[in-house]
Amino acid sequence: MPTDKDVPLVGFHVSVAGGLHKAFDRAEKLGCSTFQIFTSNPRSWKGRIITEEEARAFREKAEASNIDVYFSHIPYLANFCASGELYKRSVGMLIQELKRAALLGLKGVVVHVGKLKDKGYKEGIKLIASALKTALRETEGVAILMENTAGQGSEVGYRIEQLYHIEEEVGEQDNRLALCVDTAHAFQAGYPIHTKAGLDEFLEIIDSLLGLNRLKLVHLNDSKTPFASRVDRHWHIGMGEIGEEGFRNILSHPVIRSCPLIMETPWGTNWDIKNMRKVRELLGLSSF
Ligand SMILES: [Zn+2]
Ligand SMILES: [Zn+2]
Repeated sequence: MPTDKDVPLVGFHVSVAGGLHKAFDRAEKLGCSTFQIFTSNPRSWKGRIITEEEARAFREKAEASNIDVYFSHIPYLANFCASGELYKRSVGMLIQELKRAALLGLKGVVVHVGKLKDKGYKEGIKLIASALKTALRETEGVAILMENTAGQGSEVGYRIEQLYHIEEEVGEQDNRLALCVDTAHAFQAGYPIHTKAGLDEFLEIIDSLLGLNRLKLVHLNDSKTPFASRVDRHWHIGMGEIGEEGFRNILSHPVIRSCPLIMETPWGTNWDIKNMRKVRELLGLSSF
């Protein structure tokens, strides 16, 4: 556990190629104090079965590491607005993901709530809420982090109001239902978080509808696409449309600084190091 509570936690989505526990070596090399992984192939329905040996290897690494705040991201195939078999599989996938996360000692699972396709908004919200409720009922401990989206196509969750409607429909005061804010998605969805007033207003909306206590994770990404484009393309920190001044503003906000910050910037070792250096500089932390 990082000893100083005032030092922001920063990390990346890291690869688990070669074994789940390999995430630690990769994260440490990049100077991470937190990270996110896929516990299963992100483009496959076939959920990974974690053996006892794999779970032990992960937990041993966790014990020996300075990093102890980890998250996972559900595979992209899940759609909690779907019907029939696809819906069932999506709910099953979330339950399995939460169980794997519990086995590994992760803090939360990040989900995109779904795409409406041919469904109406209200019907979609009901389906999503029912999926999340089922998953909460069938599992323990690990939080479900609804991620705000860019609003590409018929994607739900790009307005905070939509996430609030889901939470309302779930209807339980279950603090396992939480929020992950992606900076690129918020910007692409039309929240001017690159400005001080815009960021304050965005956080006020979250506070008034969901409560800032539900904000458990920030995905720190710059945007390759323009403001309010509703097109989801991540970019290197300070080099996209949010820009360096935008990130200086975002990273100086106390609410943002108190959340684990995880980058999902395009991969490449040199780029990862550059992104980590940039974020540490903008946070006012010592150079890495
Ligand atoms: Zn995501
Ligand atoms: Zn994200």
